[in-house]
Amino acid sequence: MAIVQKFKCPVCGAEVEPRLSPEALRAYEAGEAVLLSLTCPNGHAFSVVLKKPVAEEEALVDCEIRDWDRFSLLPQQQQQVILESIQSGRASPSIRALLRRLKEAGIVVCT
Ligand SMILES: [Zn+2]
Repeated sequence: MAIVQKFKCPVCGAEVEPRLSPEALRAYEAGEAVLLSLTCPNGHAFSVVLKKPVAEEEALVDCEIRDWDRFSLLPQQQQQVILESIQSGRASPSIRALLRRLKEAGIVVCT
């Protein structure tokens, strides 16, 4: 996957697209902060911290249960985590995957 994030040189404002080593990319994908040393096209060296945007992992969730009959057939624990994430508006990647499946099944609607 491509890193969409670009960094601006603090000296001249030129945009620099970081190139990640496989190790750095793995760390980035795991949600860790990665320290990068960059050089802009004009030769200014600077360091940045690259971190996956939190929005991708815990974006706001605006969902509601549409089909309570089928929702109530889910395991108790799943019902609970889903209701909690709907109330709090935040969902971890695994809950998002679960919500996606429920959305496809028409049990949950998200806006
Ligand atoms: Zn520069």
